[in-house]
Amino acid sequence: MGKIFNANRISSMTTSIFATMSKLAFDYKATNLGQGFPDFDGPQWIMDAAYEAMKSGKNQYAPSSGILSLKKAITDYHKKYYDLDWSLDEVIVTAGATEALFSTIMAFIEPGDEVIIFEPFYDSYLADITLAGGTPIAVTLRKPDFSFDFDELTNAINDRTKMIIVNTPHNPTGKIFTKNELEYIASLAIKHDLLVLTDEVYEFLTFDNEAHIPMTSIDGMKKRTITISSTGKTFGMTGWKIGYAIANETLATAIQKVHQWTTFAVNTPAQHAMAYAFSKLDDYLPEFRKLYQEKRNLIYNELLKTKFIPHKPLGSYFIMVDIPSNIFADDTQAAMTLVKEYGVATIPPSVFYVKSDEGKTMLRLCFAKEDKTIIDGIRKMAKV
Ligand code: PMP
Ligand code: GLN
Repeated sequence: MGKIFNANRISSMTTSIFATMSKLAFDYKATNLGQGFPDFDGPQWIMDAAYEAMKSGKNQYAPSSGILSLKKAITDYHKKYYDLDWSLDEVIVTAGATEALFSTIMAFIEPGDEVIIFEPFYDSYLADITLAGGTPIAVTLRKPDFSFDFDELTNAINDRTKMIIVNTPHNPTGKIFTKNELEYIASLAIKHDLLVLTDEVYEFLTFDNEAHIPMTSIDGMKKRTITISSTGKTFGMTGWKIGYAIANETLATAIQKVHQWTTFAVNTPAQHAMAYAFSKLDDYLPEFRKLYQEKRNLIYNELLKTKFIPHKPLGSYFIMVDIPSNIFADDTQAAMTLVKEYGVATIPPSVFYVKSDEGKTMLRLCFAKEDKTIIDGIRKMAKV
């Protein structure tokens, strides 16, 4: 074929770093502390609920925006945990948070629009903005606490800015945006009449008694915010791909338009199982949070015995480490050496930056892993 058929909009796209590192982990039989997914199963009782749904004939298309019991369960927990009132028409169930992000960005961003993203960013934001023809504008979260310069954010906004994307708790740094930071972002969004897309997939993974603050809880933000989350994180079933977007009816109607032509509807029995899972959230959460806090402590303490200096995360299931600069030139070299020579896969985060070079000095590790996987992986890193 002489002709190039690819659309120009995919010309800068490569395989995601998560898939790349998981493949290398497989090829080199390495311990995988790279891609973010648990290496242990989610709760058996949720699987049983899915099987029950299948056996009772819940096997055909669901309503496009999601089954009512799941939407109700989502609005119920938002009321109970955050004192936020949403109607069922304001929830759209999607194929993971990934589709919610895609459908939202497609619904609102068009060529010429600028979207502010905090770097390091979750990689699909960049891809989605590019697919929509928009322009990403980065504001850097800087070590040691991954805070940002308020002036840098203020100066990034102009007449073309349409949206700010926030992710709290944050992948890859584990940062929780402070109330002060969220209020500052909100004040700019209100002043310049911007949308805010807030990715809160790690809303229940906060440590040391830190509270998750939803962007919608900030005064004046509910009507201009799209909140995205995922049962994949909350119930440890990333492969089920049940996510959701919540926004006021006008915004939700726009997102639904894209959603209906992207997936139309998502897996019916899994939606039923997740509706049931949310009904047990109160019982489930204490154990879940305790488990992850212990894993956070374990990986942090193990890392202290290595030459990689950990930045203790307050949320998510990721930890950033500084790489020893006298041994490795940058993150890519460190990640490649670790996977090929030491048998441990990590994520080099420089691909999550478009502006700053800070990513070259760090690696991201995932601790949603069995304790033995964590210990095994970090002991391999200790040999460096
Ligand atoms: N946002 C963030 C910040 C994530 O870390 C992830 C997945 N790890 C997603 C979105 C995608 O979620 P899902 O697997 O539900 O599509
Ligand atoms: N979100 C996961 C991570 O941060 C990866 C998900 C994916 O590979 N799409 O590692």
